[in-house]
Amino acid sequence: MGSATSWRLAERGAQVTCFDRHSPPHTFGSSHGESRITRTAYFEGPWYVPLLQETFPLWRELEAASGAELLTLTGALMIGPPSAEAVTGSLAAAADHGLDVRLLKADELRKTYPGHIVGNRDVAVLDAQAGFIRPEAAVDAMIGRVEALGGEIRRGVAVSAINRRSGDVEVVTDEARETFDAVVIAAGAWTHELVDWLPLTVERQVLAWFAIDAEADWLTPGRFPVFIRQAHGIGDVYGFPSLDGLSLKIARHHEGDATDPEHVLRDVADSDLDPLRRYVKTRLRGVTQRVIRTATCMYTNTPDGHFAVGLDPEDPRVVVISACSGHGFKFAPVIGDIAADLAFEGHTSRDISHFSLTRFQQAGA
Ligand SMILES: Cc1cc2nc3c(=O)[nH]c(=O)nc-3n(C[C@H](O)[C@H](O)[C@H](O)COP(=O)(O)OP(=O)(O)OC[C@H]3O[C@@H](n4cnc5c(N)ncnc54)[C@H](O)[C@@H]3O)c2cc1C
Repeated sequence: MGSATSWRLAERGAQVTCFDRHSPPHTFGSSHGESRITRTAYFEGPWYVPLLQETFPLWRELEAASGAELLTLTGALMIGPPSAEAVTGSLAAAADHGLDVRLLKADELRKTYPGHIVGNRDVAVLDAQAGFIRPEAAVDAMIGRVEALGGEIRRGVAVSAINRRSGDVEVVTDEARETFDAVVIAAGAWTHELVDWLPLTVERQVLAWFAIDAEADWLTPGRFPVFIRQAHGIGDVYGFPSLDGLSLKIARHHEGDATDPEHVLRDVADSDLDPLRRYVKTRLRGVTQRVIRTATCMYTNTPDGHFAVGLDPEDPRVVVISACSGHGFKFAPVIGDIAADLAFEGHTSRDISHFSLTRFQQAGA
């Protein structure tokens, strides 16, 4: 979110300085692990759809400027019983916005996508405007644009305080104190260090790459859309086509332990992998039980699962972004542009009413 904000600000001619306690793209936060799903028929809420529609041309703009391949369209399957939220919510968002989706029954699903083992009552919504983004390459491309436009990336520099003063905003780091007209805080799982009044919780997440059978050509990006499936007894599982022809990545959505960014357990245990092994065995065809790679990552969750984006209620020169809850990456270009609106203009024309920073106080959360 910080790279995206800096990119969108730099494109508008702002003089941008970006501080990161690590050296992005890196593997310590929330934006690594090869791939992130993007889709349009958004079951989390139809109000996300106009924002999502803005992201596709912005990803293409970034690809053109950087020469990097960032967005691959594969379509997305939301699989489950007809009552699954991913199914009903996607259909509702599609109906609201006239989106290109199809509802597949079990027979058609088996025939068209043999990688999925489904029960007779399972259905799937196929969302056409969907696929995956390469997060490390995207962060790198955004930072590259910032630098090309004259901005500065300060790597390995942690911000310890932000002081709201009468004429400017002071950023305090281990190295110095510097002043700016406006500051955007996008500190992911570390947000509580700089914004202690947002009720955010950090959740450990495990990603696993399973070896695939040599003949399983139905698992390639052209034949295997990204997917989210409500899997009875395991929770929601999502996955990607094989990007290397050797392995396929899957993970559970949520179901992780509470953690904090400085003490997150990086080692992956059998207890992390067993539910995924069960999933592979019972629901995927052509995928073996052999795990060839794992990664850990963090979700930063709000109580209602929607983002928190807006002006600091006490100081309109400070913008706060927590766009995660496990589904933020796909929005990065538009969230970055919204943050640029807020930092430059103090308001945005996009509907961000669902992301209000103060809604938790109002709800008494
Ligand atoms: C396993 C996993 C799978 C996901 N899958 C999807 C998906 O399929 N689709 C999707 O859309 N989203 C997905 N998400 C969510 C998405 O990745 C996040 O919404 C997004 O990465 C959040 O970005 P961020 O900028 O908030 O956090 P980060 O990328 O972690 O960035 C925060 C940055 O702030 C820096 N920082 C922190 N504190 C300070 C400080 N005091 N001073 C200086 N720098 C500081 C950190 O070093 C870090 O670089 C997934 C997340 C995870 C973990």
